Amino acid sequence: MSANAGGTSGQESIEQTADLCEDCGICCLHVNCPPLLPEERERLPKSLRVEIDGYLDSIRYEDKDWPCIWFDRSTGKCRHYEHRPEVCREFEPGGEGCNRMRAEASVAALAHGEVWPKPKGGA
Ligand code: SF4
Ligand code: SF4
Repeated sequence: MSANAGGTSGQESIEQTADLCEDCGICCLHVNCPPLLPEERERLPKSLRVEIDGYLDSIRYEDKDWPCIWFDRSTGKCRHYEHRPEVCREFEPGGEGCNRMRAEASVAALAHGEVWPKPKGGA
């Protein structure tokens, strides 16, 4: 949940993690909606709350595995980085969850003959 936008665990790792996240975004690809706590949602600008509510009203149960609606696939970045949830801020590039998701995505891509990391703007 970084989308080149993730937090880092330390100042020394900023350069390294920026490289890691470049053209990745794997952690934003299966969350559907920004994973906001209720109090985080309440702090959002009204336009963003309306966007989220509209999305939640439109999805069906089976539509549960889509990229986060705030993830911009053309840039590989979070569209509302300054409003991203705490869980996204705390997701550590190069950490256990990151490495697991990247490994799983790589295996899945290989199984489908895809290139990974996906090029920007890719489907
Ligand atoms: S999966 Fe890891 S490297 Fe990829 S965008 Fe998320 S935090 Fe960055
Ligand atoms: S809110 Fe932003 S950082 Fe969090 S999952 Fe969505 S696109 Fe990624």
